[in-house]
Amino acid sequence: MTDLHRLSVREIAEGLAQGKFSSRELTEHYLKRIAKIDAHVQSYVTVTAEQAFVQADAADALRKAGNATFLTGIPIAHKDIFCTQGIKTTAGSKILDNFISPYDATVVTKGKDAGLVTLGKVNMDEFAMGSTSESSYFGATKNPWALDHVPGGSSGGSAAAVAADLAPFATGTDTGGSIRQPASFCGLTGLKPTYGRVSRFGMIAYASSLDQGGPMARSAEDCAYLMNVMAGHDAKDSTSMEKDVDDYVANLNGTSVKGLRIGIPKQYFNVQGLDAEVKARVEESLKKLEEMGAVLVEIDLNMTDAYVPTYYLIAPAEASSNLQRFDGVRYGYRCENPVDLMDLYKRSRSEGFGKEVQRRILIGTYALSAGYYDAYYVKAQKVRRLIQQDFLKAFESVDVIAAPSAPTTAYKIGANLSPTEMYLGDIYTLAVNLAGLPAINAPVGFDKENLPVGLQLIGNYWSESQLLSVVHQYQQATDWHSKRAAIAEENA
Ligand code: GLN
Repeated sequence: MTDLHRLSVREIAEGLAQGKFSSRELTEHYLKRIAKIDAHVQSYVTVTAEQAFVQADAADALRKAGNATFLTGIPIAHKDIFCTQGIKTTAGSKILDNFISPYDATVVTKGKDAGLVTLGKVNMDEFAMGSTSESSYFGATKNPWALDHVPGGSSGGSAAAVAADLAPFATGTDTGGSIRQPASFCGLTGLKPTYGRVSRFGMIAYASSLDQGGPMARSAEDCAYLMNVMAGHDAKDSTSMEKDVDDYVANLNGTSVKGLRIGIPKQYFNVQGLDAEVKARVEESLKKLEEMGAVLVEIDLNMTDAYVPTYYLIAPAEASSNLQRFDGVRYGYRCENPVDLMDLYKRSRSEGFGKEVQRRILIGTYALSAGYYDAYYVKAQKVRRLIQQDFLKAFESVDVIAAPSAPTTAYKIGANLSPTEMYLGDIYTLAVNLAGLPAINAPVGFDKENLPVGLQLIGNYWSESQLLSVVHQYQQATDWHSKRAAIAEENA
């Protein structure tokens, strides 16, 4: 079979169950594609072929014995921020080049328990700081829709791998948009769950009060299958919620678009820098939802101007604290011939961290230092609360809130935006993390250059089922999610 990569997750599962192909055949098919096509896309940092075949054979044996579950034997790619026992975990950084974790992240363990086959680890911005994946020590990943464009970031490797059909689905993480924005740039569906829904154990920390893992795939249905694997309480993560998990697949038809009140924040559609074509595609998708019975309600989100400054204070502050552990002593990169301990710290960190990471450590350390703590960090926390209240108020009158996921389509590689230009591109995604809310990106069309545009739907706390369901209804009525980049059409 030459077109296994065109199947949806459900179709793969059914094919495996019916014995149309084995997990080994499927795994081999994907590994062949990676060997041929990923030379152009560069989404994988590490390909784990040997282990993948062992897992695939184990999956086939389970199935033979009648012990397979629905997803047993399906391949997956993990963002290189999730620790994998015995396999390198780099977080896109030189400082962790050759770091091999002694344990698996909970998300990885859950994947293994569900019988998923790990194809490898995919690229990302260094420590998930960025919006292009260019800050990776391992080089820039390419957007499958246009190889001279970025796939977005930080989960750019996850997005590019799925968009080029080099994995049926992938894990991502989202601290300020890193699932939704690359999903938008690569024409995929990606869900950022409510803070606390997916365990952060073994996920290398960027900004702990904002970080959240989630699924990236072609459709809401495919995301729902992966969400069923990833979600749930974990005793090893004190911020994970002890709350029953929905069956996201069973609920795909649980929400009707008919009568759904979709909030349209006035402020969002007047943002300077919102590309006219992005705006047009998003408005067309809202029109479609309206035709399907949704009610569009104009709302106010008055704190919009505060999103970027608030996030770019809190996230670097937490990062500066989280990244202290990378000091060249116990693991990770160590400089050559240190003269004393201070020299070892300084040079290991200066040589091991890239420019953007160093910038954020400096900003964050400054904001947390005595004398500035109240003026910056405490102030930002207060504004964060106001941003959250703004959303809660909005959810008194609407069910979901619509926005673009990003003000533009994918940038050119090497566009060399200044840090502030880059940060402003996160305007639509940051507030969701500051408030801890769930949000989803759905592909809704293309610009003139044939680059994908994404619609973001933001939900109230724990409304992942609703978001997936609304996007699923939309995807039953449209086919943007099934469009494929030319490179994905290539056979290995
Ligand atoms: N682009 C944002 C940043 O650079 C968000 C990144 C993320 O969600 N990990 O911080």
